Amino acid sequence: MNDVPRVNLGLAAKLDLCDPQLAHRFDDSFVRALPADPVQHDVPRPVRNACYSRVKPTPVAAPELLAWADAVGDLLGIARPDSATGPVADVLGGNHLLPGMQPYAARYGGHQFGNWAGQLGDGRAMTLVEVIGPDGRRRELQLKGAGRTPYSRRADGRAVLRSSVREFLCSEAMHYLGVPTTRALSLVATGEAVERDMFYDGNAQDEPGAVVCRVAPSFVRFGNFEILAANEELEELKRLADYVIRTHYPELGEPSPEVYARWFEEICRRTAVMVADWMRVGFVHGVMNTDNMSILGLTIDYGPYGWLEGYDLGWTPNTTDATGRRYCYGRQPEIAQWNLLRLAGALSPLIPDRADLEAGIDSFGRVYGECSQRIMGDKLGLLEFAAGDDALVEDLVAALHGAETDMTLFFRGLADVPVAAADDAVLMAPLCAAFYDESDGGHLLGWLRHYVERVRRDGQDPATRRARMNRINPKYVPRNYLAQLAIDALAEGDASVLKRLLAVLEHPYDEQPQHEDLAARRPEWARHKAGCSALSCSS
Ligand code: AMP
Ligand code: MG
Repeated sequence: MNDVPRVNLGLAAKLDLCDPQLAHRFDDSFVRALPADPVQHDVPRPVRNACYSRVKPTPVAAPELLAWADAVGDLLGIARPDSATGPVADVLGGNHLLPGMQPYAARYGGHQFGNWAGQLGDGRAMTLVEVIGPDGRRRELQLKGAGRTPYSRRADGRAVLRSSVREFLCSEAMHYLGVPTTRALSLVATGEAVERDMFYDGNAQDEPGAVVCRVAPSFVRFGNFEILAANEELEELKRLADYVIRTHYPELGEPSPEVYARWFEEICRRTAVMVADWMRVGFVHGVMNTDNMSILGLTIDYGPYGWLEGYDLGWTPNTTDATGRRYCYGRQPEIAQWNLLRLAGALSPLIPDRADLEAGIDSFGRVYGECSQRIMGDKLGLLEFAAGDDALVEDLVAALHGAETDMTLFFRGLADVPVAAADDAVLMAPLCAAFYDESDGGHLLGWLRHYVERVRRDGQDPATRRARMNRINPKYVPRNYLAQLAIDALAEGDASVLKRLLAVLEHPYDEQPQHEDLAARRPEWARHKAGCSALSCSS
């Protein structure tokens, strides 16, 4: 296959973002297909009978490129710029528009923390353009933090460096972990300060501002449909559904009542797969409002997310949610389903037969159950998930709760347990690095004895079992404190910490002996430090 010359469609070469030739690969299908807000100023207001408002980025003082994802550039056919300042940084910082760019902010609503919040919309995000990549696929370039829009409400339309780094880093890390996600092309410092009260306690401070260029086939959310249904804008609702199906689900066929039902079921399926993957790697989204749920089943809107350190179903990084813990790790599947029910409500004018909507919701439960069982079997290195293994998993969860145990290190270490050994200390040795607290290590030892018996019954070759487990249990995840160290260094002008972390996280399942320190347990200093274990929605 490799010897067959590729037909040159003019798509293979990578071009500079500002190369006029690139404009041939620009498109604006969303803008063309859907109704625009007729009003053209950015004063916050309720918008009616429209899917988006035309906007312009607000220029910033001194755009400077801090990070660039080559792999995302490859997808788009856009070359890494030679210089950190100049025309490309100007476009990606929002200071200059290229011919063919018709930026817009999408109109959406959402249920926030369980309640209908009305119109929200892209308050600081704007899609610049769609780019057709060398693979023939369409992807949006969307700036986050590029200024006010009609959806900014009382906020400033800006984003701070810390939250922008966190979005860039985590969305790329999720991709390499194999979790469906939006991507990020660039991170640009604005050279301007943004005022934020990080914990809403009256201590507002100036922080450096930044703009991330996010990339996804579409940023449409459940909330884009909810706002149309809530306002009984049924013509617009149908147009948006038809656009999303034709553009992003063409395999389902031309929109019809049956196709709408199949489409909803497919959204449920994708959402189940995504959340099962979150649970697999220990990711906690932190704000699973329906405006943060992608219609394509991608992880979207990285805000006060976090990574499990100690395995704890009740853990949430989001201080705004600390009392209710609605969006804690263990409730993510249930909340995803609750969100799908809200989407079902919004799509009901198109899918009048309740049974179709119920079938979709049922498929969420079924797919999530199948995925999570397969994942748990694979994480434990079992040949197959068999009768009785449920009890083994339940007991493991209880044991992990009993002694504060690092999720990532525990599952990675499990592959190294010499299951043929008889000695308890020998069995436990590969897991020791995972314990923050060994007060109830006895429970885990009891579990481990059952586990090794179970694994012995499979009779797998140890090396094969280990290799299989290491393909599903990552060694490297963007631990909360590592992201914070990268942010602190960047604020001092040192990009090397972020660069190294990004490079290591491109191979999260590989042993990288020279980067062992990045796989280590959270240090004690980070246990309660802001940004490391506690985050708010302020970003
Ligand atoms: P989030 O919690 O990030 O999902 O945001 C919820 C809503 O608030 C969305 O409509 C955002 O666009 C909007 N929003 C958040 N931060 C800002 C900001 N700094 N400026 C304008 N709108 C914002
Ligand atoms: Mg959001």
